[in-house]
Amino acid sequence: AIPLVVAINTSLAARNGMLVRDRIAMEEARNLDAIIFDKTGTLTEGEHGVVDMATVDGVAEEDALALAAAVESDSEHMIARAIREAATERDLTAPDASDFEAIKGRGVRATVDVSGFAGGPSDGSDSGNEVYVGGPNLLTQLDSEVPDHLQRFADEAGQNAQTVVYLVRGGELIAAFAMADVIREESFRVVDALHDLGIEVAMLTGDSRDVATAVADDLGIDTVFAEVLPEDKDEKVRELQDQGKLVGMVGDGVNDAPALTRADVGIAIGSGTDVAVQSADVILVQNNPMDVVRLVKLSKASYRKMQ
Ligand code: ADP
Ligand code: MG
Repeated sequence: AIPLVVAINTSLAARNGMLVRDRIAMEEARNLDAIIFDKTGTLTEGEHGVVDMATVDGVAEEDALALAAAVESDSEHMIARAIREAATERDLTAPDASDFEAIKGRGVRATVDVSGFAGGPSDGSDSGNEVYVGGPNLLTQLDSEVPDHLQRFADEAGQNAQTVVYLVRGGELIAAFAMADVIREESFRVVDALHDLGIEVAMLTGDSRDVATAVADDLGIDTVFAEVLPEDKDEKVRELQDQGKLVGMVGDGVNDAPALTRADVGIAIGSGTDVAVQSADVILVQNNPMDVVRLVKLSKASYRKMQ
């Protein structure tokens, strides 16, 4: 009789916008001790707009924005879109760029035609056309020093839950951009509802610790993993599992795939990438984090019927 009950609930799940790829995981959802959410685009809207910027002496804001837009011209990332939009809004034309490279979880790099731009490396070398845009993980990789006033700018932005990305030209950090993202209305109810079910709520992000903490404090999230590189995300799932917890993971990006696989219940949400979808046990068709709560409740209800 059990397979029948599970089958019924699988179609019930489907009617609720949940596609079950692994029935065992669907059953296990009732026993979850902790659920980890990807931050950007899951708990937040993920629609970054550039709200503020700062540059080093001798670099005009317009120039910094145009350079950043050039480096970002080949990227699909929401941060890239926001930077290109900000440049367009100011009627700036991005210079030509080539050799685009996406550095996973860190940022982007390109070779930019900087002939119309002032400044550049003091040694006069042509490394000035190598330009990067990225977050704290990029700065770590490049071993870049943040000038004091840009650090203060970044600290203040971070406290306001704004994501900061940096512009690095010829090895020198020359500008910082603050981007606003907003917490989704539903996320507050999701955290409360999961707490009511006795489930620990965690958040996982490649974004800075400041931003992560600000968002987590607002939402009442229990555990925060910030500045995590894509290849380390599954380690964070394992960290909670090693505490003896049954762990669910909710994510949408290519970056989240290993973590979804590692989790006891991997949940892909919304218009997730194919890779995320293929790594998940359950797919939530609508991009509504409240469906995670419905999933746990449905699993619990199915279990009671089976007893
Ligand atoms: P998340 O972990 O929040 O889903 P990602 O793994 O996509 O985010 O990116 C992590 C961090 O890497 C971003 O917060 C940003 O600092 C940096 N980053 C990634 N892609 C870009 C890009 N195209 N431009 C600038 N920064 C980027
Ligand atoms: Mg993501």
